[in-house]
Amino acid sequence: MSDAKAVADRLVKAKRLNALLTPPKDLRKSLNTQIAAARPTGVLYGMPVAVKDNICTLEFTTTCGSRILEGYRSPYEATAVAKLKAAGALIAGKTNCDEFAMGSSTEHSAYGRVLHPLDKTRVPGGSSGGSAALVAAGAVPAALGSETGGSVRQPAAFCGVVGIKPTYGRVSRYGLVAFGSSLDQIGVFGRSVHDAARVLSVISGRDPRDSTCEDRDPLRLPTVPESLQGFVIGLPKEYFPPELDPAVRRACDRAIRIMKELGAAVREVSLPHTPYAVPTYYVIAPAEASSNLARYDGVRYGPRFNGAADLRSLYRSTRGQGFGPEVRRRILVGTYVLSAGYYDAYYRRAQQMRALIVQDFRNAFDRGVDLLFTPTVPSPAFKAGEKLADPIAMYMSDIFTVTANLAGLPAMSLPIGRAKGLPLGGQLIGQAFLEDEMIEAAYALERVVPATDEA
Ligand code: GLN
Repeated sequence: MSDAKAVADRLVKAKRLNALLTPPKDLRKSLNTQIAAARPTGVLYGMPVAVKDNICTLEFTTTCGSRILEGYRSPYEATAVAKLKAAGALIAGKTNCDEFAMGSSTEHSAYGRVLHPLDKTRVPGGSSGGSAALVAAGAVPAALGSETGGSVRQPAAFCGVVGIKPTYGRVSRYGLVAFGSSLDQIGVFGRSVHDAARVLSVISGRDPRDSTCEDRDPLRLPTVPESLQGFVIGLPKEYFPPELDPAVRRACDRAIRIMKELGAAVREVSLPHTPYAVPTYYVIAPAEASSNLARYDGVRYGPRFNGAADLRSLYRSTRGQGFGPEVRRRILVGTYVLSAGYYDAYYRRAQQMRALIVQDFRNAFDRGVDLLFTPTVPSPAFKAGEKLADPIAMYMSDIFTVTANLAGLPAMSLPIGRAKGLPLGGQLIGQAFLEDEMIEAAYALERVVPATDEA
C-alpha cells in the first residue's frame, strides 16, 4: 500500500508543470483519510488516480478550470470516482484543464497553462492536459480525463502516454460537468495500455443515475495476445493526407509494418466525410455547450460577481467576469447556430453531416474491417502561444479525433515513436462496445512498437 506522503511527494514534485490544482496540504490530508478508508480487497487497492477538474469529487473542489466555479465544492461525487474508490484507488487530486474542457492545449485554464513535461515551451495538449502531464511525468500511474472531441487522446499523444476514450454510454457521465452532452465521455490515461484499461474496466458499467449509460456489465479485459492474426486493420486514406507531418507519417508507417508482421491484414479504406468533421463538431459542441452552460448564473454555483443591481446585471457581470474568452466564444457560436434564423443553415446541417460520418464508419466496419488505425494528431506538441490567436488552427489539431466522438465509437491513442524527442501517438478506432478488441490490438502493438525511438 502506498503511503500518503510518498504519493503526495511525487505529485508535488510535478508542481512546476502546473498540472495539479489541489493544494499540497489538502492533498496530503485527504490521502491520509482515503488510505485509512481504502478497501484492501479492491482491484485497484492503493493505486493513485488523479482526476480532471470537471469531474465531481467530494474530497476536493471542482472548478472546471474556470473562475465561475472557483472554490466550488460538489455535494455529490461522480459515479466514476465512486467506483474508483470502491475498488480501493486513491483520488490523487484534481488536474488542471482547459476551462470547461474547451481547448486543445490547456492554455485556456483560468489557473494558468500546463507545461509539457518534456519541453516547457510546449503545450501538453488538451483539454485534459493536466492529467496527461502528470501521468507522463510519472507522478501517478493513471488519471481520469474527459472527451468531447479528443481531449484524452490528443494530450496522450502529445505527452507519450496511453489515452482511451470509451464508447458513448460505456462509462457513466453522472458527475461529469456537461459540455456537449451527445459527445461527452469520461476517459482514462495510463502509463501503459494495461494501467489505462484496468482503470477503464473499473469505471465502466451500468449506472441508474445516468440514462445515457448503457445497461451493460463492466468491460472485461482481454489477455495479451501473441499476435494480431485474424485482425483486419483499416487505414482510412483521409487520415493520411499529403501535408501530414513527415515524422508522424514515418512513425505510422513503421507501426503499420509491425502490425503486418504480427499477422494483421491491413487494407486501405475511405471515410469520405472526414473533411467535414471539424466544422460539424464545432457547430454541435458549442450548440450543446451554450445550453449546458446557461446554468452558471451567479445564483446556483460558485462565486457571484458584483453588479447585482437587478437580475440581468447579476447574470451579465457573473458570466462576463466568470467565463474566459474561449468559453464566451463557444457560447456565442452555439447560441448563434441554434437561433431561429440560422438553425437550418448550421445546426440542422451539422446533424445531417454527423449522420453521414456515422455511416462512413458503419460502411468500413461492414466491409470486414475490425479496427481502424490512424495518427492521433497531425503533428507533435506545438509551442505555447502558437495557436492561441488563431482558434481555427487550434481546432484543426482535433481533426483526427472528433470523428470518434461524433460517431460515439471507442478510440485510443498509444505512443508510436518520437520526433526530435517529442512523443507521437497512433490511434486505434474500434466498433461500438468492442473496446476489448481495440485493447487487445493495443497490447500487441505496445509490446513491439518502439515508442521512444525517433521516427
Ligand atoms: N479540443 C476540442 C474542443 O476544444 C475537444 C475538447 C474535449 O474533448 N473536451 O472542443
